[in-house]
Amino acid sequence: MPGFELFGALEKQEVQQVLDTGVLMRYGFDGMRNGQWKALELEAALAKRMQVNHVQLVSSGTAALTVALAAAGIGAGDEVILPTFTFVASFEAILALGAIPVLVDIDDTLTLSPEAVERAITTKTRVVMPVHMCGSMADLRALKAICDKHNLVLLEDACQAIGGTFEGKPLGSYGDLGCFSFDYVKTITCGEGGAVITNNANYKTNADQYADHGHDHMGKDRGAESHPILGYNFRISELHAAVGVAQIKRLDEFLALQKKNYTIIWETLGAIPELGFRKVPKGGEESYAFLSFFLPDENSAHKVYQNLGKEGVDACFYWYDNNWHYYKKWEHLTHLKSLGKLPQEVVKQLPDYTKADFSKSDHWMGRTISCLIKLGWSTTEVTERAEKMRTVIKETLA
Ligand SMILES: *Cc1c(COP(=O)(O)O)cnc(C)c1O
Repeated sequence: MPGFELFGALEKQEVQQVLDTGVLMRYGFDGMRNGQWKALELEAALAKRMQVNHVQLVSSGTAALTVALAAAGIGAGDEVILPTFTFVASFEAILALGAIPVLVDIDDTLTLSPEAVERAITTKTRVVMPVHMCGSMADLRALKAICDKHNLVLLEDACQAIGGTFEGKPLGSYGDLGCFSFDYVKTITCGEGGAVITNNANYKTNADQYADHGHDHMGKDRGAESHPILGYNFRISELHAAVGVAQIKRLDEFLALQKKNYTIIWETLGAIPELGFRKVPKGGEESYAFLSFFLPDENSAHKVYQNLGKEGVDACFYWYDNNWHYYKKWEHLTHLKSLGKLPQEVVKQLPDYTKADFSKSDHWMGRTISCLIKLGWSTTEVTERAEKMRTVIKETLA
């Protein structure tokens, strides 16, 4: 997945152009910029590549989620449905707005189970937030039908699946809003950065203003602009955007490398009859950022994971025991270990996750191992890795 593996001359050249002008901010200073508008350039490139009308660049993927929710008018006490398998950023963004993260089960897609979503809907539900973890997607068709039926916003977290598609549309563009992260370990990187994409002009205006202290961005004098809404600072810098301008040009090259490397491992492991593979919903094509497979049970998954490590096969993940990506280790959320007082809505409405039954999620995560697909591997390296993985898995299961 990581675009940092292939950081090179193009990235340096784009950054140098910003350094030459000295204008590190995305707004204003028109006279000094020498025609350099990297954030605008990256927004235009992303809009084109993601086939959407509007893009709002921000300072991180977490900021993108926060800004997207804010743009849709989400606030205190609104419920947002999200999966038990995601990165902590998902509920951080929700809580930051005083809204309520409602965790629900995943299925064999390793993303939101549409049935679990349907069951979790209340009169307070406003948003369904599928998270396309590890390069593959939720069943967006089913989720969109649920959202249409209940008049909910569909917000796709595509931070780990940039370049994947569903029914021919880029992930992130299928729902009402989509979010990307360009942090250092994502498929393309800015160092730190993120983006909100949408076809809704109203959401774009809200995002544009909210991410910059409520500035209306009218006219040429920042100080004279008015502030129609309360906002915040989630701006990206020109230096970061410049790296992104180079990396977006390379996205399709990165995706082709991911697919090539993924396919070699997938074909090799496919010969092991005991293994299952993550389900990709009908109409979906992965970004191939990870290869995720199912062992027969939790015990064998645990052993295989340990043995892969012992044999030096790095970049594999057993999320079930992971501190950051699975609900089981989120006691800071369960017990609301906040530095300061939280809004009353959050304190009163947060479901009691100490008593929640997520056995359906455990059923899948307990047996899942994901293998990160790197860009820098040579064909020989991937082939050797795949063979080693096959040997370790077969010996462990024997
Ligand atoms: C990385 C990531 C985020 C947050 O992105 P940052 O840029 O690190 O803030 C959000 N959601 C998912 C699924 C991620 O993988």
